[in-house]
Amino acid sequence: MFRIGIGHDTHRLAEGRPLILGGIRIESERGAEGHSDADALAHAITDAILGALCEGDLGVHFPDRDPRWKDADSLQLLARVMWLVGERGFRIVNVDTTVMLERPKLRPYITEMRAKLSEVLGVEVDCVSVKAKTGEGLDAVGEWRAVMAQAVVLLESA
Ligand code: MG
Repeated sequence: MFRIGIGHDTHRLAEGRPLILGGIRIESERGAEGHSDADALAHAITDAILGALCEGDLGVHFPDRDPRWKDADSLQLLARVMWLVGERGFRIVNVDTTVMLERPKLRPYITEMRAKLSEVLGVEVDCVSVKAKTGEGLDAVGEWRAVMAQAVVLLESA
């Protein structure tokens, strides 16, 4: 049996915050605001997996009112959700993602992001796609006020 899920996430950008995407620290004057480490890419993937399982969303499992998840490493939250995938008798087939960020260019970081994510997701690196887009100077992404990420995940019975 196959299950498909979609995920989306947005974080506001601010000076003095780290910018972490796919578990990788990005050199940037502006980072992402949030209760956890604000890793929009990890959050979109986690939500896509929860969606495929019909298990609600990130906020249901890791409420931002809960001090346990303050500054949490989002890859650890993803790993917890991967435990749930195994528990339900599924495994990841592939994951496709897009990160929307005006700057800096993410291309130099993408190989490292895919490697890190593939470890947590328990798949080969060629099953994890990370694409990068800018906002072309338009909207909150284009004005360098936000980072967004989208993810689609396919699960199959293990
Ligand atoms: Mg988020």
